[in-house]
Amino acid sequence: MTGANRHWRNLEIPIRPGTGTPARCPWGHDLAIAGVRQGWSQDYRAPEWLCEACYALPGRENTWTMIDPAPARHVTEDQADEYGLRLVLLRPATAAGIGAIQLRLGHTVFGEIRFSLCGIDRRAVLVHVEVEEKHRRSGAGRVLVAAAAARAPHYDWTTLPIGHDPITVAFWARVGAIGPPSPHPCTHQTEQGVVPGESRWTKWW
Ligand SMILES: [Zn+2]
Ligand SMILES: [Zn+2]
Repeated sequence: MTGANRHWRNLEIPIRPGTGTPARCPWGHDLAIAGVRQGWSQDYRAPEWLCEACYALPGRENTWTMIDPAPARHVTEDQADEYGLRLVLLRPATAAGIGAIQLRLGHTVFGEIRFSLCGIDRRAVLVHVEVEEKHRRSGAGRVLVAAAAARAPHYDWTTLPIGHDPITVAFWARVGAIGPPSPHPCTHQTEQGVVPGESRWTKWW
């Protein structure tokens, strides 16, 4: 693929994390009642679904793509190619340090989630989720959260305090919390500076 296509590298079709046949469309319809059609997104290289109820209504979005958040589908930077929507894993430089997963299509980075995992203490701290403004409300954040969670499904997850930014609050209120918003780092994560000083002890007593 040449650079000619890059100008339309947007999340034109919304995405959701998951595999298999979805139960509901992103707009809330029960697909057992609405009806659903499966296709394939050549651009994202992922299964594409169409809700028949949305399709039958005028002027509605009706199509979305399911992105498998499983770690087996994450690629490292050297494996990232021009094709398909990829979850690119950026491993931390040191154990229990902050690593990241980026959602990319070719050279376009839609968003990134940063987090720390300690395999010894089985603790996970979600540090930050960022989706570029023009790509928000397409499911990129949801896919990133699911991808991070899938790397440590049985860990004790906490997050940095959500704060009061309306966009951040609305995001977590929509997606659902991955863990309580008061970080609980282990000694290794504390050594790595995973949690900034001012938020380390919030809500502990
Ligand atoms: Zn629908
Ligand atoms: Zn640890």
